[in-house]
Amino acid sequence: MDESLTRLIDGNRRFAEGSTAAADAADAKPFAVVLTCADGRVAPEILFDQPIGSLFVVRVAGNIAGPLELASIEMAVGELGASLVIVLGHTGCKAVGGTMDGRTGLLFDDIRAHVGKVSSVEAAIPTNVKATVDAIKQSPILADADVRGAVYAVEDGRVTFLD
Ligand SMILES: [Zn+2]
Repeated sequence: MDESLTRLIDGNRRFAEGSTAAADAADAKPFAVVLTCADGRVAPEILFDQPIGSLFVVRVAGNIAGPLELASIEMAVGELGASLVIVLGHTGCKAVGGTMDGRTGLLFDDIRAHVGKVSSVEAAIPTNVKATVDAIKQSPILADADVRGAVYAVEDGRVTFLD
């Protein structure tokens, strides 16, 4: 398994088990990009137990990749050398939930385009993540990056990586 991915999986295990180790800002260069929801419960450095500076974090409600989010990811990979990109959704996401409740507007409409006819919030969360992963993979700048989807369970702190 890729070393960068192993660092995140091991760090999340430490976080979920309450034995965090990484506290100081040792790394100057990010090894991974995490595109995640702006929801305050999803703090990547904490839930992956990584030092400040080691992750390039892009946050927007619903973890979607519009032009500015995509440009930020491209900067992290193209200029800062990150090679792993994680799109991280989470259980109980209000952006996805609002979409399923029929809310409209730029954010909800983008998520709706991802989830289509999916009927439950629980199913729509990974579907939205996968659609964002597919959108990111279209970027030629990110052709060599390892782009993966994952969902964080706020109930127990566990991150599950999607296929
Ligand atoms: Zn959310």
